[in-house]
Amino acid sequence: MLRSLLYEVPPTAGLPPRFGDLLPFNTPTLAEQAARFLGIDEVQVECSGTAALVVALTALRRRSPRMSVIVPAYTCPLVAIAVAHCGLKLRLCDLAPNGIDMDAAALAALCDEDTLAIVPTHLAGRVADIDTAIACARRVGAHVIEDAAQALGARFADGTSAGTRGDIGFFSLAVGKGLTTFEGGLLTACDASLRAQLRRCSEEIVAVDAVWERKRTLQLLGYHAFYRPSGLPLVYGWPRRRALRAGDAVAAVGDDFPLAIPLHRVGAWRQRVGARAFARLRDFLDAGAGQARRRCLRIAQIRGVEVVGDSAQAQGTWPFLLLRMPSREARDAALAELWTTNLGVSRLFIHALPDYDYLAAIVPKADVPNARDFAARTLTISNSPWLDEAAFDLLLDGLRRAIG
Ligand SMILES: *Cc1c(COP(=O)(O)O)cnc(C)c1O
Repeated sequence: MLRSLLYEVPPTAGLPPRFGDLLPFNTPTLAEQAARFLGIDEVQVECSGTAALVVALTALRRRSPRMSVIVPAYTCPLVAIAVAHCGLKLRLCDLAPNGIDMDAAALAALCDEDTLAIVPTHLAGRVADIDTAIACARRVGAHVIEDAAQALGARFADGTSAGTRGDIGFFSLAVGKGLTTFEGGLLTACDASLRAQLRRCSEEIVAVDAVWERKRTLQLLGYHAFYRPSGLPLVYGWPRRRALRAGDAVAAVGDDFPLAIPLHRVGAWRQRVGARAFARLRDFLDAGAGQARRRCLRIAQIRGVEVVGDSAQAQGTWPFLLLRMPSREARDAALAELWTTNLGVSRLFIHALPDYDYLAAIVPKADVPNARDFAARTLTISNSPWLDEAAFDLLLDGLRRAIG
């Protein structure tokens, strides 16, 4: 297996940074660029996707005495942490069997008069079924918050942007999610009065914090310095391999989030860096979709291996290819061979939410067999442009051997 010490493919296709992004000249603002990109009137900038969700939940809570928030049982631990931060009650919805969406019947059964919000999630850039969540929410008077943290630039079958169909939507500009300000988030809402409430809520609960902004500024500069195949071994490859050697998969993929959520404003310079990067995001996503399409066809030739795709006409984004293997054993055999290489193989979240030890105090126990099956049988292959054809061929060989 290719094993250069000075080369590492990132696990997701981040938009490669450019030096010019860092220059201090004026551009349209990040909010303006994001709104134009998404095809909507207005976008609110927050310091992370999680912070955007906290603002959304806090604003909804001020409108209603309801307390329950329904989320997929397999999603980012930060979603559970945000719900706990707001003092709300987390309710887990299992995934559909062999699906990536919440199970429609399970979702309908969970909705009641206490449901404040449902959070359907565009996991892995795939375009989720938002309409089922909207129908369930309308029946009980709840809101829909679309989690598009992993899907900036994905589009529904009608061409509108994923993240803009629910009452509220949010996106992440964290490192690894695509376009990044190191940490950042975008918040949207359909309705003008709800948008005004989100803005007011943010003004009340989010303050300027020079210490956090300085830290994020240095991290963003570090990202520009190291986000290249020769820089990533130091900041990503070697720490990951060390965690894997120690048997700590949760640390290896970075699922071990702090339980405290930083809430602060994003400084003007970081916003301009993000605004400038928006100019090349669509072309980058289109190139990634083309590469993904070709590679999905090749993976589909391996019997039993399925790439999780989109329903007809929807156009998701492809930060990585999400593979469902025929069994846990086959998945683990593939990872045993590929996870410690420098070729961008990883996993999405390690566990279903009830199975993280460190979240035990904030996540209810729940019987969610399909979410657990999803966690046990999936792995990811980077869709970074730096994973070239020769390296992709090596990965296919590894997958074939794992299937046996
Ligand atoms: C990353 C992520 C979040 C949180 O976004 P941050 O910007 O990292 O705070 C929320 N939901 C999902 C599905 C995510 O992947």
